[in-house]
Amino acid sequence: MSWEKIGIMGGTFNPIHIGHLLLAQWAMEEAGLDGIIFMPTGNSYLKDKTEMLSGSERLAMTRLAVQDRDCFFCSDMEVKRGGNTYTYETLESLRHIYPQAELYFIVGADCLFSIENWYCPEKIFKQCTLLAASRGSTPLQELEEKRQELAEHYGADILLMAFPDMEISSTDIRRRCREGKSIQYLVPDSVREYIIAGHFYENL
Ligand code: ATP
Ligand code: MG
Repeated sequence: MSWEKIGIMGGTFNPIHIGHLLLAQWAMEEAGLDGIIFMPTGNSYLKDKTEMLSGSERLAMTRLAVQDRDCFFCSDMEVKRGGNTYTYETLESLRHIYPQAELYFIVGADCLFSIENWYCPEKIFKQCTLLAASRGSTPLQELEEKRQELAEHYGADILLMAFPDMEISSTDIRRRCREGKSIQYLVPDSVREYIIAGHFYENL
């Protein structure tokens, strides 16, 4: 692959939904990326585990979601690595595989505000440009303040992008499954079929 600008879309993807796919699409256009690597997490030690599907199940859903798009790929790197998932390790591995590429790590606003609690944030900032999107009602002004703070404190390179407000989250999708409501249009059909066939999220 001769990519010069690579986007990395990390997430638990429990399940992957159209918010993730649109965010990746927006990021490609905004930063002129050559392609996006979707990277489902292994063990997200910062996340609540009660409704968490296994890594292989989240990986399977992510693969289904990106399979019909040429410039979207899915990586099993974090799921396979085992142990806690640390983003800086993933970025170091990608840097090794693509020594010449510019790496863009894509996050929604909630992650921009919590990234300092991730393991070794300074190593994350060193390896990539962060592409941060607004999420929900976060005003761009607040994002801009956070951007400046992280730039001053860590020398972080952060690009902000406006993203349409959509009240869509995996948490909400899991709740809908529990309540027997439809998740059509919220996730790709292939992912919805996988969830229905596996009876996932129904009784969690
Ligand atoms: P959960 O509710 O389980 O936390 P989620 O919908 O937040 O799931 P994650 O896998 O936690 O999905 O998020 C992966 C990335 O996608 C994060 O950077 C998150 O900020 C971003 N993201 C997810 N949904 C949206 C959305 N609707 N708008 C903007 N960014 C989003
Ligand atoms: Mg989340």
